[in-house]
Amino acid sequence: METIEVNDATFRPIVGIDLGTTNSAVALIRDGQPHIVASPQGEQLLPSVVLIDNQDQVIVGQDAKDSLIAMPERTMAAIKRLMGREGFVTVAGKEFLPEDVSALILKQLREYLVPIFGDGPVEAVITVPAYFDDKQRRATKRAGELAGFIVERIINEPTAAALAYGLGQGDEHKNILVYDLGGGTFDVSVITLQDGVLEVRSSDGNKNLGGEDFDWRLVDWMAERIRQEQQVDPRKDLRARAILKEVAEKTKWTLSTYNEASIETPVLMMHDGIPVSLNTPVTAEEFTQMIQPWLDETLQLTQTALKAANLAPSDIDNVLLVGGSTRIPKVQQMMRELFDHDPQHEVDPDMAVALGAAVQAGLKSGALSETHLVVTDVAPFSMGISVVRADRWGEMVPGFYKPIISRNTTIPCTRKTTVYTLYDRQDRIQVEIFQGEHDRVEQNLQLGSFFVPGIPPALAGQESVEVQFRYNLNGILEATAKIVSTKATQGIVVQDGLDRSSTDLFESSKVRLETLAQADTIVESEANEPEEDEVLLMEGIEEKEESADTLEQETEQSDVIKEAQRIVQDLQAIASLRQGSQRSSAKSLINQLEQAITRQDTEGLPDLLDEATDLLFEMEG
Ligand code: AMP
Repeated sequence: METIEVNDATFRPIVGIDLGTTNSAVALIRDGQPHIVASPQGEQLLPSVVLIDNQDQVIVGQDAKDSLIAMPERTMAAIKRLMGREGFVTVAGKEFLPEDVSALILKQLREYLVPIFGDGPVEAVITVPAYFDDKQRRATKRAGELAGFIVERIINEPTAAALAYGLGQGDEHKNILVYDLGGGTFDVSVITLQDGVLEVRSSDGNKNLGGEDFDWRLVDWMAERIRQEQQVDPRKDLRARAILKEVAEKTKWTLSTYNEASIETPVLMMHDGIPVSLNTPVTAEEFTQMIQPWLDETLQLTQTALKAANLAPSDIDNVLLVGGSTRIPKVQQMMRELFDHDPQHEVDPDMAVALGAAVQAGLKSGALSETHLVVTDVAPFSMGISVVRADRWGEMVPGFYKPIISRNTTIPCTRKTTVYTLYDRQDRIQVEIFQGEHDRVEQNLQLGSFFVPGIPPALAGQESVEVQFRYNLNGILEATAKIVSTKATQGIVVQDGLDRSSTDLFESSKVRLETLAQADTIVESEANEPEEDEVLLMEGIEEKEESADTLEQETEQSDVIKEAQRIVQDLQAIASLRQGSQRSSAKSLINQLEQAITRQDTEGLPDLLDEATDLLFEMEG
């Protein structure tokens, strides 16, 4: 294992962490450069998979990944996709919040640091996709704290990637585009580097688009082949589905190097006493066609980000490719065609984010003070308030969203707006704060609210209140409201620290993880042999009602949820192949279904399921 000199005077215990959908990594600054801290076995990337084995031991990493097929209900992968959701996930019969599972991954990375820093406090800069909303960022911060880190800052992944790259650059003006296509998310950012100032000018993305989608698309392709040849759909068998997923990912990797791959699955299942399997070639071209709708979407989002930064493709000096899925040759070709030059390969796409997080950590600790690198970021979403608007008949309609800080505003920043009393002698107003892009507040995320009392009596519209938002690089929003005539001011701070409700959450998470720790500490060991009847659930992902009255009811409810999850997948698959109104109807339904699943809304779900079935029928027909 590598040893690291810690007697550098500028060295402080602060690290950068990439908590990825597929892999995670931790890095620190040594001799003015970021370095990945490897595991005791020398591995630089930790697969973000958690296994709770038959002895209730927690195993994180490659062994857990290897157990995904054999022990699906004891393993959990791609937890990042669920971060910020309130529902529990069940692993090995125990319920966890998504951040609990992420905390187990981060704890494993913390172990890598023990030989360097001992057990003492370690600060961390943790990265998230630019598109993570406030809830997801808070959940990530809680995961870090549960794992025992002092979370210094949450930064955006593309910013981190640009930092990893920007460190070695001179003072000349450069426009950089970061195209980050990972396992679960796509982010694109336009960044300007000048005189050591790294300014994020715009960012865009889709938090549900990544390599996992490509794998599932290939699973569907293989399953269709099998269905045609052997009249059985292997996706209905959970174990067969898990094997196909693994074969799909490996085939995808092969197709990044070779023009053709041969798919040879083991026996997936038995059907009418006959073994079901698939042997077929697949070409890179066929695979590219399958995933083209997603690739087109990334291209459109890239154009949107360029537009938001007021730049043309020809203004971009460097294109940075980040994330494992940028190894797909078609992605590189698309970038080459759009920008007319080769993308950068200097920083390893798998490591760039962790290395950049370490650069941010080094800037904070002073270990990189000589570089004079300064970072500004952009607000990844708009923040605003709820207002009443007159419709075209003059009726007053509440619940409209008025952004105060628009998405892509350079931060830190301060913005103001003025609102007026609605009726005569109105003596107070309520400031309700939201985050999001939708015109109606109920479609956005509420961050907080407060009252401003003491407005002097006057006619409607004569008194006004100035609402001011200040947003800083740590994602902390300060909202204040001042009655213009009296100068009386009220305000609140909405921060990514722990508020009252999340303190309770945090405590209950701690108890859950401590109970686990009593069973045993996290170990990296050989995976155990699977038990026959353990092959129950794909990846062990099952969101459950917290307290169902009866077992029967519980089963019924989880059936509805499972059905909804299945239909969301079907809709996603078919929507990606459609255009126009069908596609937007499907997307809106997916949205509603996902929200209902998160709320575990078993009463509302049946209607949505009916609607979704009709739409699927219509789209397939
Ligand atoms: P990340 O989230 O950046 O760790 O990226 C992980 C994603 O990259 C997963 O979906 C991987 O399957 C995918 N990936 C890794 N290597 C390759 C490759 N050679 N070709 C295509 N996809 C890859």
